[in-house]
Amino acid sequence: MAVERTLSILKPDATRRNLTGQINARFETAGLRIVAQKRLWLSRAQAEAFYAVHAQRPFYNDLCAFMSSGPVVVQVLEGEDAVTRNRDIMGATNPANATPGTIRKDFAESIEANSAHGSDSAENAATEIAFFFSTIEIVG
Ligand code: ADP
Ligand code: MG
Repeated sequence: MAVERTLSILKPDATRRNLTGQINARFETAGLRIVAQKRLWLSRAQAEAFYAVHAQRPFYNDLCAFMSSGPVVVQVLEGEDAVTRNRDIMGATNPANATPGTIRKDFAESIEANSAHGSDSAENAATEIAFFFSTIEIVG
């Protein structure tokens, strides 16, 4: 396995409930390093651009409204097999289906307000990291 980077977002439901430290502790305990991080309030247009791949999905409008409803924390996580490892730490999209001990099982409010985003492939991770960060902002 190779050292990879993946894009993570702590969603507005997580910042609203002051959960960012608890969630970051999950990443670090599992061996992922936070090599870049910033707190942003996405505009509606920025949320739409980030989730453009989902533009045809029925939940797209609600998702973009939610993601621009409050602050987010965007971050780059680095480690062995980081893309898959982060998806495992997050758990299933729907918290009802997530494994106990995962972020979404323990913290998510709903399938939409599910506390965290993580890239789903190394290729998408590269695109998503570049959406938010320049190379000099990522310090491994
Ligand atoms: P994941 O975030 O697990 O990769 P998707 O990429 O399929 O999941 O969806 C992106 C985000 O859209 C989800 O994290 C969730 O916030 C929202 N979402 C997904 N499916 C639904 C749904 N059926 N209803 C409402 N929101 C959804
Ligand atoms: Mg996804």
